[in-house]
Amino acid sequence: MPDPHAGDVTVVGAGLIGLFSAHYLLERGYDVTLLERGTAGGGAARVNGGWVCPARSDPLPSWGVVRDGVRSLARPYGGSFFLGARALPHVAGYLGRFVLSSGAHRFERSWDELDVLNRQTAGLIDELVEAGIVSGLQDEGFLMVHPTREQAEASWASLSAVSRRGLSPAPEPVVGRGELLELEPGLGEAARFGFVHRGDRWLDPSRLVDRLVGSAISRGARVVTETPVRAVRQRGSRVELATPAGVIEAGHVVIAAGAWSEELLRPIGVRGYVTPGKGYSFTVHPERPPRHVLRLGDTHVGVTPMGDRTRVLGLVELDGTHEGVHTERIALMKRQAAPYLTGIDWDASTDEAVGARPMTPDGKPLIGCVPGAERIVVATGHNMLGLSLGAATGVLVAAFVAKGPAAAVPAFDPMRFTRRHGLGSARARAHD
Ligand SMILES: Cc1cc2nc3c(=O)[nH]c(=O)nc-3n(C[C@H](O)[C@H](O)[C@H](O)COP(=O)(O)OP(=O)(O)OC[C@H]3O[C@@H](n4cnc5c(N)ncnc54)[C@H](O)[C@@H]3O)c2cc1C
Repeated sequence: MPDPHAGDVTVVGAGLIGLFSAHYLLERGYDVTLLERGTAGGGAARVNGGWVCPARSDPLPSWGVVRDGVRSLARPYGGSFFLGARALPHVAGYLGRFVLSSGAHRFERSWDELDVLNRQTAGLIDELVEAGIVSGLQDEGFLMVHPTREQAEASWASLSAVSRRGLSPAPEPVVGRGELLELEPGLGEAARFGFVHRGDRWLDPSRLVDRLVGSAISRGARVVTETPVRAVRQRGSRVELATPAGVIEAGHVVIAAGAWSEELLRPIGVRGYVTPGKGYSFTVHPERPPRHVLRLGDTHVGVTPMGDRTRVLGLVELDGTHEGVHTERIALMKRQAAPYLTGIDWDASTDEAVGARPMTPDGKPLIGCVPGAERIVVATGHNMLGLSLGAATGVLVAAFVAKGPAAAVPAFDPMRFTRRHGLGSARARAHD
């Protein structure tokens, strides 16, 4: 129900989180402006895999990922994780805290906490379908393919455990190559065993971004592009935003600047260790396009059918930068995917792109008010899950703007890393 006394809110960043936040703020009756450094969806939004996947939205830090990361470092031309040596000074704080968050107990607790958002996703996405904002949602299931029966059965057991959390049905039985080819005739020789896991869905993220922008504008929001926000601070009951065109004022500000958020957060006393984790995607044109999302063995490469395109995605690269495609990473993904797929001219790929995921050390987002500057709401750090968690985050952001710190969800407290190290409280009182 719109609040007739709702004020004005400026959202920094027109990526997935900024746009979902704007959507739910507009529903509550706020006067919304989005300020975007580049173009809408210019961060990781349009590059991503399009998975709306509450069933598999587990936190990244776990001993399995730490082990895979160490192995990848040992074989830099074959893994799925890349750490640039020159990036170490920039990412050491993130990596150290990541390892500390990886124990089995912490992993389970963080997953339970993420499930508070995951449980809202399906219903919210269905509402957005009805509202005409989400379209082209596909739900034929994720097809997991493996070179050996043992690997397929291990993957099946792990997804059966995931299903027991109640967000997806149990995976279908493991089948051999003949049945896999009936499901997906374009599969290559390496796909010998596999199974379908239903429940999660997918869409074309560029279309989603465009529809969220269109819907926001049609409801009176302003989307101002090519306008980087350089600093944010609360002054009394208003918030000031420094931009190249001068200082802009707002009643509330939402910081949703994705992997760039740390630059705005640190000066106001929030140390979130938000670190760019670059991921790659590109388009291929298979003779027999897949109907399912494909997960290719232990490669960490995924394939998403998106209408008339097929997107290949994967890798995590920590090189301390937000942009810059390394063509050897794309070449590696192609080498990893090629044994699983036929009828693709890999040299004819298009749309090769990189996106910076906003990574946090414990794999959970930072969502909440800044202590001492409570008209500033932080909404960032969605790691590999910004599309999947976006709608539920938007609802929470609108609650923070309406209710202030009373809406707090301790699991997503933006100050959780700052407080642990005794930093920030003085600087957070940024208003005078
Ligand atoms: C290859 C790849 C595959 C992925 N697949 C999936 C998937 O299948 N499902 C899923 O849920 N997630 C996926 N993700 C992750 C998802 O894309 C991110 O979690 C999500 O984009 C984060 O949303 P965000 O709004 O925080 O950041 P972004 O979407 O990056 O948006 C941030 C925006 O803020 C702008 N900005 C930055 N600084 C400023 C500033 N100072 N002033 C103004 N504007 C600013 C940027 O230009 C950008 O437009 C994937 C990511 C990658 C890279």
